[in-house]
Amino acid sequence: MAKAIPSRSENYSEWYNELIKRADLAENSAVRGCMVIKPYGFSIWEKMQRALDDMFKETGHSNAYFPLFIPKSYLSKEASHVEGFAKECAVVTHYRLKNAEDGSGVIVDPEAKLEEELIVRPTSETVIWSTYKNWIQSYRDLPLLINQWANVVRWEMRTRIFLRTSEFLWQEGHTAHSTAKEAQEETAQMLNVYATFAEEWMALPVIRGTKTANERFAGADDTLCIEAMMQDGKALQAGTSHFLGQNFAKAFDVKFLTKDNQQDYVWGTSWGVSTRLMGALIMAHSDDDGLVLPPKLAPIQVVIIPIFRNDEQLDKLSERINPLIKELRKAGISVKYDTSDANKPGWKFAEYELRGVPVRLAMGMRDLENQTVEIARRDLKTKETISVDGLVGHIQNLLDEIQTNIYARAAKFREENTFKVDSFDAFREQIEKGGFLMAHWDGTAETEEAIKEETKATIRCIPLNAEPEEGTCVYSGKPSKQRVVFARAY
Ligand code: AMP
Repeated sequence: MAKAIPSRSENYSEWYNELIKRADLAENSAVRGCMVIKPYGFSIWEKMQRALDDMFKETGHSNAYFPLFIPKSYLSKEASHVEGFAKECAVVTHYRLKNAEDGSGVIVDPEAKLEEELIVRPTSETVIWSTYKNWIQSYRDLPLLINQWANVVRWEMRTRIFLRTSEFLWQEGHTAHSTAKEAQEETAQMLNVYATFAEEWMALPVIRGTKTANERFAGADDTLCIEAMMQDGKALQAGTSHFLGQNFAKAFDVKFLTKDNQQDYVWGTSWGVSTRLMGALIMAHSDDDGLVLPPKLAPIQVVIIPIFRNDEQLDKLSERINPLIKELRKAGISVKYDTSDANKPGWKFAEYELRGVPVRLAMGMRDLENQTVEIARRDLKTKETISVDGLVGHIQNLLDEIQTNIYARAAKFREENTFKVDSFDAFREQIEKGGFLMAHWDGTAETEEAIKEETKATIRCIPLNAEPEEGTCVYSGKPSKQRVVFARAY
């Protein structure tokens, strides 16, 4: 059989692109940086959305929806916000087309120029805080805990499907509070929600940390993030949670009456994860044969492939298999029964491997006679023959085991590729080989910039749970109180 995709060691980036195509997840579109998410890919995203949405609701948030277009003047109200986003904004200037007089086609009608140009939202702080001004008068209106599921546009120069696209799908939480402390607790809480989701659903170990001032969200006082390691040793920022201070409240004049009858500006947070998580999922676990999906996010958890020569055999197999499917579905397991005769079993095996279905069952006439089934797991590519008695319990355990194993494998990989470095020579040497470098840093933007310039490594985060450790900066030799995470990143 032809090799499905290039191997990871041959060309990691080609492997990634080709896998997305062959596993039917998504494809590029006519507009550079914009993608079409195909049904199989979208069903994984839907599972992510559902799990996250449940977690947001459990922590007291409600969903709402705000407009796609933002008046240009709104964006400029918060100075560092506009500075951060100006370079990647799509702007609507006209609202009508017309036929060109020389018959050359359709052109923008110069008479249909908008009085105020509109920005396609790169993020919604400005439109949301301009709305919150009307919603918040007193401490009784707080906290306001809102999330929106939406698409946003950032005109990215270097795009990569799922990881960095010009249009992406995401959720953005925007909350308003009466004290700084409460807003900071919300920022931390939502980071923990993201970390829990990454670890328990995506089977992706993450480092929780703070971004340096350089890497902070434009308009935030503090940005928390989760960082994950991909199989090529590069880092991926997988989610962010921002403490906005009173910056947006001041920009949009959002004040509230405090309990002791004073006027004060509201404190804010915002937090988001995007379809980038799809890229993280693919890059972190998959292998040279295709996707490896954690069972909790796999659209199909179990595929059953009957092995038959004719309709009569298929009928006999189905008679035994159909009640099993019913039992599995009753236990909440998603099952696909592939009875098509267009393709041979071997082809189907490879196809479901490519698509990352965690468990495959195959049953032929001899199995039927023996009341057995062949069961194969995608993560380890092992298989065994087991009795159909107690099959549901067996599969439930196996799905849990696969989920745990995928996480453990990724955690082990990260551990093996995380290095303490104590000199800039060691830093330079190691960064070429990839991985996370735990190094001392003097806390200055100049050093951070110089290291980036010389090695292309950035400070991914200052870990939240790091042990304090006296040391000296790998670059400047100045004193430092803890190690930070350096890596090359997507
Ligand atoms: P930010 O608003 O910049 O903090 O980003 C919020 C979330 O969106 C983060 O989890 C980012 O990883 C993700 N993100 C930012 N830019 C892109 C992009 N161009 N494509 C996909 N995801 C993105």
